[in-house]
Amino acid sequence: TVRVRIAPSPTGNLHIGTARTAVFNWLFAHHNQGQFILRVEDTDQERSRPEYTENIKSGLAWLGLTWDEGPFFQTQRLDLYRQAIQTLLDKGCAYRCYCTPEELEQMRESQKAKNQAPRYDNRHRHLTEEQRLAFQAEGRKPVIRFMIDDDREIVWQDLIRGQVTWKGSDLGGDMVIARIADNPEQPFGQPLYNLAVVVDDMDMKITQVIRGEDHIANTAKQILLYEAFGATVPDFAHTPLILNQEGRKLSKRGGVTSIDDFRKMGFLPQALANYMTLLGWTPPDSTEEIFTLTQAAEQFNLERVNKPGAKFDWDKLDWINSQYLHKMSGEELVDLLVPYWQQAGYPVDVDGDRPWLEQMATLIGPSLTRLSDGVKESVLLFGDRVDYSEEAIAQMRQEGVKEVLQAVLEKIAESSQLTEDEAKDTLKQVTKNFKVKKGLVMRSLRAGLMGELHGPDLIQSWLLLNQKGWDKSRLSHGL
Ligand code: GLU
Repeated sequence: TVRVRIAPSPTGNLHIGTARTAVFNWLFAHHNQGQFILRVEDTDQERSRPEYTENIKSGLAWLGLTWDEGPFFQTQRLDLYRQAIQTLLDKGCAYRCYCTPEELEQMRESQKAKNQAPRYDNRHRHLTEEQRLAFQAEGRKPVIRFMIDDDREIVWQDLIRGQVTWKGSDLGGDMVIARIADNPEQPFGQPLYNLAVVVDDMDMKITQVIRGEDHIANTAKQILLYEAFGATVPDFAHTPLILNQEGRKLSKRGGVTSIDDFRKMGFLPQALANYMTLLGWTPPDSTEEIFTLTQAAEQFNLERVNKPGAKFDWDKLDWINSQYLHKMSGEELVDLLVPYWQQAGYPVDVDGDRPWLEQMATLIGPSLTRLSDGVKESVLLFGDRVDYSEEAIAQMRQEGVKEVLQAVLEKIAESSQLTEDEAKDTLKQVTKNFKVKKGLVMRSLRAGLMGELHGPDLIQSWLLLNQKGWDKSRLSHGL
């Protein structure tokens, strides 16, 4: 059975790149009736934080990317990595390197002077017992390095990129798999990423490793580790990176990148998940772009994942989000809008005012692109503060408008519980009495009530306002 995983490091909030990798893994697992596993790679103890783990878990859950196993934590599995390192030492595939930071720095400097790429020159690969003891006597502490032969050629059939070939000489020399021990009792220190990943992927019986293109060189190193352990090498699939508008890798510094940011900006999880599915994958029927994760999973395959980087397209994300929003009922929308209204300081009485709030959500739903638009779209309905646009003021100052609006006011003053029919009737009568066009009455009333010439349905807005009672001087603003 298919077993795939997402292996985030909790050194920051859930990032869009990690989330997109999670989407592809989830889709692949579900398409193949396999398992999707969550593994938290928290071995970097200085940069890992429990709150980031929480953020990653809640972000994945919010997007609907439920995991079948885990979360597993690498810090709880250190013994396993230590055993694996010992195995490699015993097999003669790994060794202790006693180079000091100064020596390594010198090595890099002289390589730089010769215009060579920086690499470890494998100088401690074959230390004699005597040399080793001498270094130890000096008080030097070793790291553990895994041997990488320069003349090795590493080849794999990437499920997205086809055959990939990597030269051993391009991997930077023998790689460190464990740091210096923190205390003298330990045979070696903290295990590092490439080692821990391979041990975990072996132990968790991962069948396909689907991850970002930035890990290609790691894959070459990891394949050598699988071989050293005598283990089956899983399949690899390297997904395209997400690029910003300028075609560069989307970075944390470039602004919005965490799933939390997207949530706060008013994107729906189902819309964001839908959009991420399209970030690098083309469905077989490319005309249908709105689907749930489950629907996408039916069709998902890695052959249709593109190799070039996927440009992040805000307009498309907005379009997808609006598609979902426009399909929602007021009842569904209201709970999603309440936090935005509350944050904007609007007087929301969620329990007492629910029917009214629902009506409002129904009214403004079609004009929303993001949930956060609900703030601006409903500001006039919540209070008596109206910011009149210049157009609206100009409209109200047109000849005869003042009288028309006054007539509207007088008519509705008689009934406090205005119904739709009464509202329509009032407008009809005023239109008739003044012998003006209906458009003029509507535009003027909208200008007076809402301070704008465009917006949600006028009659519905008027009814909503009326239910709450509003400052009637709105209709004479600027006159
Ligand atoms: N912890 C690694 C990362 O966050 C995992 C990479 C992998 O999937 O192996 O990039």
